[in-house]
Formats: sequence, structure tokens, C-alpha cells
Amino acid sequence: MARIVVKFGGTSVANVERIRQAARHVKREVEAGNEVAVVVSAMSGKTNELVGWVNEASKFHDAREYDAVVGSGEQVTAGLMAIVLSEMGIQSRSFAGWQVPIHTDDAHGAARITGIDPTMLDERLRQGWVPVITGFQGISPHQRITTLGRGGSDTSAVAVAAAVGADRCEIYTDVDGVYTTDPRIVPKAQRLSKISFEEMLEMASLGAKVLMIRSVELAMAHKVRLVVRSSFDDPEAPQLAPDGTPGIPGTLVCDEDEIMEKQIVSGVTLAKSEAKITLRDVKDKPGVAADIFGALADRSIVVDMIVQNVSDDGSVTDITFTVPDGEYEKAVDALENNKNIEYAKIVGSKGGAKISVVGVGMRSHAGVASSMFRALADKGINIQLITTSEIKTSVLIDDQYAELAVRALHTYYGLDKKNA
Ligand code: ADP
Ligand code: ASP
Ligand code: MG
Repeated sequence: MARIVVKFGGTSVANVERIRQAARHVKREVEAGNEVAVVVSAMSGKTNELVGWVNEASKFHDAREYDAVVGSGEQVTAGLMAIVLSEMGIQSRSFAGWQVPIHTDDAHGAARITGIDPTMLDERLRQGWVPVITGFQGISPHQRITTLGRGGSDTSAVAVAAAVGADRCEIYTDVDGVYTTDPRIVPKAQRLSKISFEEMLEMASLGAKVLMIRSVELAMAHKVRLVVRSSFDDPEAPQLAPDGTPGIPGTLVCDEDEIMEKQIVSGVTLAKSEAKITLRDVKDKPGVAADIFGALADRSIVVDMIVQNVSDDGSVTDITFTVPDGEYEKAVDALENNKNIEYAKIVGSKGGAKISVVGVGMRSHAGVASSMFRALADKGINIQLITTSEIKTSVLIDDQYAELAVRALHTYYGLDKKNA
């Protein structure tokens, strides 16, 4: 017997029929003697609709009311899932974030979970009930509803799994695992049977939205075994692991030590809508970078790639960095209106694409970055910015070459599915 937390994403609960299909996966696990807690997202498209309504009501809305509205989609699916499970003869009830409770800080719209009281869930699980918990939402220290940021139900699921000491957390979605790159962009992408937490963390941060970054961080910190699998599979079919033996279908996200054969490059990711900003002729002296990025941090703007050139004579230099397209105007405004920052001019553009290659094998293999640049050059793709870490290399390129670059690198590193 195992204790499992299963999470269903938006497409897996898109309508009552899909909820019924998801519930059959739950039923299978319950009938196998497992204790199961369910975490649900809102129906696909619902959260976007709710965000749209809030913006229509007022551009300058109170963030607490945004959360009250936007977190409501999950309440609908939690209730419906509990109803469907009960109808199948499984004892079930829904829990909103505040009822568990799932405590968060008060950063409305992007709250962090600070603690989950497992008492009530634990009791229900022991009694053979299936608690159905709203993903994405929690309660602040001021007793207000909070939401965790887009895609946050993954994080709710992992946090619940850690709190109730689950043996594993299964993320049911519309693809049957984590692929070498987004299978919707590269049909030749291959499913990975296992991926390390670190690689998954990089892939999620670099644009693979199959798991929210924070959920991977939490799983890594609390050693939660995480499985990504499809809710579209036949719930009653024999459960086979990727190698065809009896087991759990999908991709296991686990410690690096559990992976025997380490790839040099495990995946390629794409993140669009990256804006590039260059400050020309800033003073080349201590404290300048701190002032620039301090001004951006004060406006809560997340900066990604940063490049500072060496100045010829030590007097002035150029600094270039990227921010999400949506933050471009805010970033320019923050810099233009900060009297401490001196520069000749600001130039920038929206609509860049960041392409990254990720793999733990890069630690022990030289030359991945240079071969990546060569592969892109062979396709005539110009690189605008480069950043690296121990297990990834990223480049910023023109948006119009994004898909071409992903496909070229995927082939170059031998990741294409055989016979495809
Ligand atoms: P859910 O609604 O279930 O949370 P998401 O849309 O958030 O689902 O995430 C699943 C999607 O992630 C897939 O449909 C796929 O297009 C996308 N995706 C991006 N990169 C990858 C990858 N490397 N492997 C699998 N899926 C990926
Ligand atoms: N419904 C929320 C969103 O669309 C949370 C989630 O699906 O994970 O962002
Ligand atoms: Mg998601």
C-alpha cells in the first residue's frame, strides 16, 4: 500500500466528462489499496477568463480581490471531482486551500506556501477517504485567499505530498511525461523515463512549462518522488513503466544518483517573449550594476540574462540584460527615472527567444557551448546574448528562428526519436 498525491491539470479536468476520466485513474489506485489525495487545477482556459474579468473590472484592482476571483476556478473542479468520485462509490470531499489549511505569505498573485497542516488530510486518508484539494490557492496570515502564480497547482500538489508524507506525487497532464523538448514543437521529441531534479529545475526555469519551477524546487528539497504522466491514458489498462515492465507510466523526476546513464544533453528548451535592454556608456565604477539592478528589483522586475562589456579605457561600458516582454516598459521607466544611474542612452527590443540546452553531463564534458554555437551558425542563426551555468547553456536569438533553432539543436545532440 502506498500513499499517493495525484494532481490533474486544466486539460485533465476541462469538463465533467474529463473529470470522470480523471476520477477513474483515482479509482484504480484506491482499488489497488492505496491512500489517495487529489489536487485539481481549474478547467483549462478558466483561469485566463477570470484574469480577463478582473482586468476588465479595473486595471488598478486590489491584488487581494484578484486572488479571490482568480482562485475560484479550482473550487469548481474540486467540488465536481468529489461529486464524481462519490458517485463511483468512493468516499470523497473537497477542501479549499483555507480549509486544509494551506498557509502562504501575503504576496498576492505569487504567494509562497509557508506551511500545510496535515492533520485533517491525514485523518481522512487513514479512514479511506479521498480528499480533493483546490490547487493554486492558499490563505494568507491575514486570512485572505491567495494564489501561487500561474501553473501553481503543481506546487500545491508537491507541498501536500510533502506534508502528508506521500510515497510519491503524480502529476497527470496532457502529455505522457517529460520530453527532450516540447513535443508540440518537435514531434521527434522523446519521452525521458527519468530526469534528475536539477535538470528538471533548469528545464522548468528555461521554458518547459510542464512543471512549475517552484514545484520542482519543493520536490527536490523534500525528496518527493515526482511522476509526470498522462490522464488521457486508459485508466483501466495495465500499468506499465516506460520500459514495458509493470510499473508507473510516465517520467520519474528523481535524484541524479538514481539515473544510471547520464546524457550530456538531456533537453532543449524555448522561452519566447524575452525583451533585451542595453544601457550605453554607463560609468565603469563600483556600485553601478548594484544601482541598475537595484532599481529593477525595487519594482519587482525579474532580470534574466546579464552581460557587461569590458571598457576600452576603463571609463564607460555597456550593460545588456533581458526581462520578460511584459516588463519592458516598466524596466525602461525604472531606469529613466532613477537619478543615480548615468548613461548615454537606452536601446532595446521586445520579442527575443531564449533557447537553452540542459544536461548534467555538461559538468564532465567540455565543448557543449561551442558545439551549440556551431550548430546555430550552420543554420545562419545569429546569437545576441549567451549565459551558462554548470548544467545549461542559453542563447538569446531572434524570435523568428526559435523553432528552427530548437529543432536543429535537438537533432544535433542526437535527441530525435529513432525511426521518426
Ligand atoms: P497542465 O494544464 O496539466 O498543468 P501544462 O499545459 O501546464 O499542463 O503543461 C503541459 C504542457 O507542457 C504540454 O502540453 C507541453 O506542450 C508542454 N511542454 C513544454 N515543454 C515540455 C517538455 N519538455 N516535456 C513535456 N511537455 C512539455
Ligand atoms: N489554474 C491555474 C493556472 O491556470 C493553476 C494551474 O493550472 O496550475 O495557472
Ligand atoms: Mg501546468
